Amino acid sequence: MNVADIAIVGSGPAGISAALNAKIRNKSYYLFGTAALSDKVRRSECISNYPGIADVGGRTLHEMFTGQLSQAGIEITEKRITGIYNMGKYFALLADQDEFYAKTVILATGVETVRPIPGERELLGRGVSYCATCDGNLYKGKTIAVICDNAEMEEEAFYLAELAGKVYYRPLFKGSGFAAGHGELLSGPVAEIRGEERVSGICLKDGTEISVDGVFFLKESVSPAVLLRGLDAEDGHVAVNRRMETNVKGCYAAGDCTGIPYQLAKAVGEGNVAAHSAIKYLAEQAVKKQ
Ligand SMILES: Cc1cc2nc3c(=O)[nH]c(=O)nc-3n(C[C@H](O)[C@H](O)[C@H](O)COP(=O)(O)OP(=O)(O)OC[C@H]3O[C@@H](n4cnc5c(N)ncnc54)[C@H](O)[C@@H]3O)c2cc1C
Repeated sequence: MNVADIAIVGSGPAGISAALNAKIRNKSYYLFGTAALSDKVRRSECISNYPGIADVGGRTLHEMFTGQLSQAGIEITEKRITGIYNMGKYFALLADQDEFYAKTVILATGVETVRPIPGERELLGRGVSYCATCDGNLYKGKTIAVICDNAEMEEEAFYLAELAGKVYYRPLFKGSGFAAGHGELLSGPVAEIRGEERVSGICLKDGTEISVDGVFFLKESVSPAVLLRGLDAEDGHVAVNRRMETNVKGCYAAGDCTGIPYQLAKAVGEGNVAAHSAIKYLAEQAVKKQ
């Protein structure tokens, strides 16, 4: 079993900063995310408050990040982590059907841009899912609702449409490629997930009620507390101390996911601190083993 020193979950500025430091300090690591790095960075029109680079456009900064990663020889493991399990001496990270292992974890997932709706968290694992590949098969031939917050993940909605008997779909972005053959577009936003033991239906903002067996949320970022059970939260963010330590030993967090201000400089600073804290922890564990 290959157990890396550090697993960094998220390829935005915080994750990139953590990976650069892990690489410089010769630690083995995974940097999980996408080649697109961070949607937020690419969408920024003009960044004027980042030291050393005056008035830079998001796309230019994205190219600079990509260039720096490639120059440093840092590869991105293009996987979406859907669950993290604390195994005591190491962490197991699930990405669809794949499993990865690491001695420490740095959560750099960014912040959930779409707030959970009533019933979403309460019925998670009981009809609500964030992972099409993991749970799609459970809904073969059944009726589901799919809410997708970004174009890159729409492929997963099409996959679910192939499996399910009927799909009600709500894209939260412009330019959806969803066609009539895939299912039915919802006429308005989903306001609530209904159900007692399990999901029984959805309620739209205009009051329309629709019976469904399951609801899939395809989101760029879900709360790290959903990924790793037992993680302490504060005001909806991961609770950390100044060393970026969470309440889970060996698990650190950095960037927007730890709270406001949502800013680049804070994200890269925290990514740096988290990586150094993880490296210190690894050294302490190595001494204990001797
Ligand atoms: C329009 C706009 C303009 C902005 N302008 C400025 C500005 O001028 N100055 C400034 O300082 N800040 C600005 N910001 C804020 C800045 O972009 C963010 O603070 C910064 O990107 C946060 O970095 P992060 O690494 O914490 O998270 P993000 O940049 O959100 O990156 C997180 C990454 O992790 C990935 N991820 C999430 N979950 C998983 C998972 N489970 N598995 C694998 N990968 C995962 C996501 O796909 C994403 O790529 C702006 C933001 C926006 C949206």
